[in-house]
Amino acid sequence: VPKVRVQNPVVELDGDEQARVIWGLIKRKLIEPYLELETVYFDLGLPERDRTDDQITLDAAKAVIKYKAAVKAATITPDEARVEEFHLKRMYPSPNGTLRNILNGTVFREPILVSNVPRLVPGWQKPIVIARHGFGDQYKAQDVEVPAGHTVELVLRDAQGQEARRVPVHHFGANGGGVAMGMFNTDESIRNFAKSCFEFALRRQLPMYLSTKNTILKVYDNRWRSLFQQVYDTEYQDKFAQRKLWYEHRLIDDMVAQALKSSGGFLWACKNYDGDVQSDIVAQGYGSLGLMSSVLLTPDGSTLLAEAAHGTVTRHYRLHQRGEETSTNSVASIFAWSRGLGHRALLDGNEALREYVRALEAACVETIEAGKMTKDLAIAIHGTQEGSKRERYVNTEEFVDAVQQQLHDKLARALG
Ligand code: NAD
Repeated sequence: VPKVRVQNPVVELDGDEQARVIWGLIKRKLIEPYLELETVYFDLGLPERDRTDDQITLDAAKAVIKYKAAVKAATITPDEARVEEFHLKRMYPSPNGTLRNILNGTVFREPILVSNVPRLVPGWQKPIVIARHGFGDQYKAQDVEVPAGHTVELVLRDAQGQEARRVPVHHFGANGGGVAMGMFNTDESIRNFAKSCFEFALRRQLPMYLSTKNTILKVYDNRWRSLFQQVYDTEYQDKFAQRKLWYEHRLIDDMVAQALKSSGGFLWACKNYDGDVQSDIVAQGYGSLGLMSSVLLTPDGSTLLAEAAHGTVTRHYRLHQRGEETSTNSVASIFAWSRGLGHRALLDGNEALREYVRALEAACVETIEAGKMTKDLAIAIHGTQEGSKRERYVNTEEFVDAVQQQLHDKLARALG
């Protein structure tokens, strides 16, 4: 099979533990034999982040901005236990958070559908893509305890520090205190979120909904509704109409009901907290974390960073370290490569690369549909007892080999 030439580099961000193990396998078996590709490589594994005082993550973000197409393996976000385990100099922030803040993008989570993997919600025949606004609200809020007898007010000060407005929130009576919270968002961040979502919907030919609770938060949530509508009316309405797509706002309660009853096939733009919750509901609903892909897209649609939605699968890595067999699902990591390379193909107008990407994604799905799958999927299909029987599943390496076989046959037919 002749190698496909990729004119411009892709930024490659390596990760930790089992995610790093399957990353290397994928690269060796599914990427390097088929592509003439230069990757700009950054090791975001925890030891290297520690050695460079996390400078490597900042350098990686710069390279992503420069080259515009990137793929990432899952990385450890250190907690106290990890600081001890790796003897870290300090508790570094989540690399994903750092990348998201620098790129100012939105994360889209999309399930990979395989016909023989049952879904908790059987009606979901097409993917539901969740876009989560990754800035502000509860995640940047100040929350405080309020003693009995105290009063909580919101005070706005102007640029000179003069009190401009004072809004009473609640008076706590002498009988008991409670809690209070101040949270915010910015018009700029909401507009950028809207743009990322409209760009993604157009690219993937999906209708789009934004959910809020604007009946209760009349000022706060109506801001999302009106900014999304403004961006849509001025920049996207015609493009959506040309493709017979649409955008609508929905009250979150109505949206949840609609999503459950739907057959999927839409983009759901969520506020920060809603996106946190809904993306887990959707991930479970579609069957397995190993089948959930994730991309970060900038507001102008020019830069895309793709990864698996799952973590470093520590439990499997411990087995791997002891030299025991593992059966880790690599599909979401393979899709990280295919989605990142697909973006490269779009930027470069590289039809041969697009063909390769289609073949790679189809090879994964067809391998599972032909009955070769990792243990997580065997359990999803056959139940825990039957699915755990060794003849029902293949190991980590065997699965990647099976995908390679399928891919090789496809490419030989298409390109050979
Ligand atoms: P995890 O996603 O690694 O695992 C959660 C559960 O799902 C485990 O039971 C695991 O066995 C199963 N699972 C996940 N992916 C699987 C796959 N591909 N094949 C088979 N089973 C799979 O999450 P965790 O255990 O909570 O976290 C482990 C580490 O990953 C932590 O250090 C965390 O910081 C990191 N993490 C990183 C990212 C990221 O880089 N995007 C996301 C989440 C967690």
